Amino acid sequence: MSMGNAVGDKRRILILGGTAQARQLATALGQTGHAVTTSLAGRTATPTLPAGEIRIGGFGGVEGLAAYMRQTGTDLIVDATHPFAARISANAAAASQVTGIPLIRLERPQWQKPEGAIWVEVPDMASAVAALPAGARVLLTIGRQDLAPFFPRTDCHFIARMIDIPEGLPATWTIIAARGPFTQEAEEALLGEHKITHLVSKNAGAAEVAAKLDAAARLAIPVVMVARPALPPAQIVASVPEALEAIGRAFRSD
Ligand code: NAP
Repeated sequence: MSMGNAVGDKRRILILGGTAQARQLATALGQTGHAVTTSLAGRTATPTLPAGEIRIGGFGGVEGLAAYMRQTGTDLIVDATHPFAARISANAAAASQVTGIPLIRLERPQWQKPEGAIWVEVPDMASAVAALPAGARVLLTIGRQDLAPFFPRTDCHFIARMIDIPEGLPATWTIIAARGPFTQEAEEALLGEHKITHLVSKNAGAAEVAAKLDAAARLAIPVVMVARPALPPAQIVASVPEALEAIGRAFRSD
């Protein structure tokens, strides 16, 4: 991977993180000699930490992010957040416009339906709630921030899997605290053990948690797949190697 004379031409890169790809990118960029800082929102109590410098917590909107980038002498920002973290991605696009500091968005491809899978594709979480039939036994694998819309569906039983468990979940729900990656074998066992009839997932596209889709397909369990939110236009790369190439190009051309 060509990155130019990185050590002699050290640049300051801000990665907006919170994903495995962001961690892989931080490691790869650190090896090139650039100064890399990863920013995390601070949602997870014990996050898996990336290589390089880390800062934790919100910036205070577009102005806060723009001010941080100027103050730290950031040369380039990589938005490597989760595809459903729409606000920070919009803020990154706006802060890049305001400051003129280039932005690259690392956006992994969406999951494609496995052979033989049954997918009900919905545009948002409200539609996912509405798509569930009465009496369904539902595995929710959508994290912990979007659970509330499902609370009124007392006619279904919910098994919710997430990394950190928030307060205030319905007492009737079954809660599983777990962090991927998960194997297909383990996912099939989980679906069988809880007699799951429906799986709800965001179209995250992350390889580490994709096994649930093959498991559901094999057991003919329908997946309610929530589409990604729309994000503002940006230079998009689909993988860590592509991000490294785009960053190298950006620094060579300025
Ligand atoms: P969000 O709704 O897009 O962002 C809400 C606010 O949180 C932002 O306005 C920003 O606050 C702060 N924030 C978000 N990501 C940040 C980051 N990397 N560094 C500093 N501040 C950040 O985000 P979210 O959906 O709550 O996701 C939060 C984090 O969890 C992201 O880093 C994302 O990669 C990760 N994550 C999200 C999901 C998901 O399903 N949404 C799943 C896995 C991981 P200020 O405006 O004050 O700067």
